[in-house]
Amino acid sequence: MKTHARVVVIGGGVVGVSTLYHLAKKGWSDVVLLERSELTAGSTWHAAGLLPLFNMSYTVGQLHKYSVDLYKRLPAETGQDVSFHVTGNLRLATCRDRMDEYQKYCGTANTIGVPFQIIGPQEVRDLWPLAEIGDGVETPKIIGALYHPDDGHIAPADLTMALRKGARSRGAEIHEHTEVIAVRQTASGEWHLTTNKGEITAEHVVCATGNYARQTGRLFGINVPSIPVEHQYIVYDESPELKAYRQGGGRELAVLRESDKSYYLREERMGWILGPYEAGAPARFADGVPEWFGKSLFEGDLDRLLPHVEAAMRRVPALATCGIKDIVNGPIAYTPDGSPLVGPAWGARNLWLNAGHSFGIPAAGGSGWQLAEWMVEGEPGIDMAAVDPRRYGPYTSKRYVVQKNEETYRNVFVIHYPDEERADGRPAKTSPIYDKLARMGAVFGQRYGWERPNWFAPPGVEPKDRWSFRRSNYFEHVGTEVRRMREDVGIIDLSPFTKHEVSGPGAEAWLDGLVANKVPTKIGRIALCHALTPRGGIRSEFTITKLGEQRYYVVSAGAAERYDGDYLQKMLPPDSAATITLRNITTSRGCFVLAGPRSREVLAALTDTPLDNAAFPWLTGQIAEVGLATDVYLMRVNFVGSLGWELHFPIEYAHHLFDALLRAGAPHRIGMVGMRAMESLRMEKSYRMWGTDLTPDYTPFEAGLDRFVRMNKGDFIGRAALEKQLAAGVPHRFITLEVHGVVDADPLGNEPLYDAGGRLIGRATSGYFGHALGKSLAIGYVAPAFAAVGTQLEIEILGERKRATVLVDSPYDPENKDLRA
Ligand SMILES: Cc1cc2nc3c(=O)[nH]c(=O)nc-3n(C[C@H](O)[C@H](O)[C@H](O)COP(=O)(O)OP(=O)(O)OC[C@H]3O[C@@H](n4cnc5c(N)ncnc54)[C@H](O)[C@@H]3O)c2cc1C
Repeated sequence: MKTHARVVVIGGGVVGVSTLYHLAKKGWSDVVLLERSELTAGSTWHAAGLLPLFNMSYTVGQLHKYSVDLYKRLPAETGQDVSFHVTGNLRLATCRDRMDEYQKYCGTANTIGVPFQIIGPQEVRDLWPLAEIGDGVETPKIIGALYHPDDGHIAPADLTMALRKGARSRGAEIHEHTEVIAVRQTASGEWHLTTNKGEITAEHVVCATGNYARQTGRLFGINVPSIPVEHQYIVYDESPELKAYRQGGGRELAVLRESDKSYYLREERMGWILGPYEAGAPARFADGVPEWFGKSLFEGDLDRLLPHVEAAMRRVPALATCGIKDIVNGPIAYTPDGSPLVGPAWGARNLWLNAGHSFGIPAAGGSGWQLAEWMVEGEPGIDMAAVDPRRYGPYTSKRYVVQKNEETYRNVFVIHYPDEERADGRPAKTSPIYDKLARMGAVFGQRYGWERPNWFAPPGVEPKDRWSFRRSNYFEHVGTEVRRMREDVGIIDLSPFTKHEVSGPGAEAWLDGLVANKVPTKIGRIALCHALTPRGGIRSEFTITKLGEQRYYVVSAGAAERYDGDYLQKMLPPDSAATITLRNITTSRGCFVLAGPRSREVLAALTDTPLDNAAFPWLTGQIAEVGLATDVYLMRVNFVGSLGWELHFPIEYAHHLFDALLRAGAPHRIGMVGMRAMESLRMEKSYRMWGTDLTPDYTPFEAGLDRFVRMNKGDFIGRAALEKQLAAGVPHRFITLEVHGVVDADPLGNEPLYDAGGRLIGRATSGYFGHALGKSLAIGYVAPAFAAVGTQLEIEILGERKRATVLVDSPYDPENKDLRA
């Protein structure tokens, strides 16, 4: 083994080997993979080899698509067969909500170019003659299906070996029976790894250790939120019916998924593999994989699987006539949201994760591809936020991860409603006034561990969601909250906001070099600032207020605490300790948004600070006393587009301020407003949401944020790319659309947009019903030729094309008269 490498990849499963392959392919040939046992000895050897293209996530969908395409090319490239059976993939639907889910997925698939078909029961029968359509009594009736003709199953070990060959042929080294047992970072920032076979130093380390991710993380001092859960599949003997069908000339049957019964079924040597996702599967190895486990499996637990086996036998009677050969029960890596951890680790430079893969076979190719781009080019080629390890924060305690992972596992096949909020591991992080909000009828959702009211059930209404792809039980109540904010005054508790304080003589210049806008230079000014990637894409959005001399208050999305915090920390110049102080003060300050035409009167009752336009103009902030509270940062900004202030207060005043605002607001019909109303309100103002509408896929020019870019202010990250884009022409334009003819299904984001001739010309990134405008709205990106106000387009919502018209930006109050009132 060499003693130095540019990259060491730890872990020789399909994911680690794919990472090695892609690094070598990108020209980094000085790369070494270390595997404690043999290649594939982790989860990879016993995987059932399914590689579904289906995934509701825009990011993961792209990773899977890349993998499937790559695996088809690999045999020709490497000379190693991968046993890719392109059988197709059939997902059955037995209820309308399931069909809605597939149709929602199809919108995403269309935007990323994944081929699929929606088919009816007769076509299911033609494709899968051994399946019953169902009588609707004993067996649910199939009402349709989603069919992917291009995927199927593969031999995971053969795939790993093909990737190994591809990596080695480009100079990569692989060392088996080499376990990394200790790690330290040298003064120069390199990683020094101790193994049972000697020492090696590397510039970068990638942890791709599957079920071992947590203990590998510990070596590096990080708490990786991945804990495996047991997963079983049953291997059946030969099936006489299947044999007869195949010998009669029938082609290999598509992988069958009866989603509503939570199982998959595929052919295996004239028999079957049946894999249920059952309730009660336990998380394992929360404290690490024991030494004895090795290439082992757990005892099978057929009882747990029985309900699914019975359902499968009713759907495919041929199953009933063949015996069970084996039950494979192994650990499958999970994360609380079911998506993998691909990208930089936090808190340490040049440490990368490619772990937490529960669908590692279709994800391996794509995650290796993007991680290699990230490492070699300095950023990934597509928006990877949905899999970025920093989407989690310090709240991922062991018990939290265990509960969430078990929940995610048993919910693999549930209908993934867009408004779904799962119950386990909650409440974890709460604002101080959580109990008060609950008593006021709050129906909570969870983001980044925080409980946030999605809407408030008025007296007499059950505070409970009915999840749907369409307008649901909370629709009218959200409408009431929107009108409250537009006509009177409302409060939103946004205490989860990420808050940093940056101070010192170097603060201003440093911040200014990170963002495209000019950081405010006058005390009390507020600026909306975007940190860009080197390619000019939008990585972060900060509201920056100059609070005092050499003192800035930097606010960003609640879910970005680690994502932004880690970035800011890593961007600090090495010699800045004496000149820049960066402090995360997220949990020491709460935030209430007070907004609506009556907000000035409400606030005036509690503060001596003059609130008129001359004394307190829009986009300024002041430190004030409000009620009994001192040191409240009053900021005249908000994300709803009405007159209003954000109150950022020392957390100990939360109860006092909340009660005082409600008391002062009572004569003005003050009330609470939740996150769903905020979605409606911001959509009416065309306010772009970080992470959804603002992503590294789009530059601020594409996003129509030109007024927040100062090309002439001096250099900043991404500036050179923006200059190039301006010269070449901006490839997309941001638009706001009114969607016509909506009955009950508003756009929600990830819908494809078409021109009048049916050509795909863009995608919606968000959508909602604008309750004050009374219009169904979408925002998104199109080719520039289609961005003019009045352009007629089509949008695909749950499989139906709807007419849509491009509106002016900010269709509610385009001149911002309310804001500046
Ligand atoms: C029963 C079952 C069926 C499955 N079926 C499917 C399926 O059909 N489709 C699908 O997509 N997924 C399936 N999976 C999941 C799939 O197996 C995983 O997603 C995939 O194998 C993960 O690959 P990996 O490379 O991340 O991890 P692994 O294959 O587990 O590889 C990690 C490697 O890291 C090594 N390692 C750990 N620590 C160290 C160290 N300190 N030093 C050196 N090496 C170390 C381990 O020895 C191991 O080889 C299934 C899982 C199970 C349990």
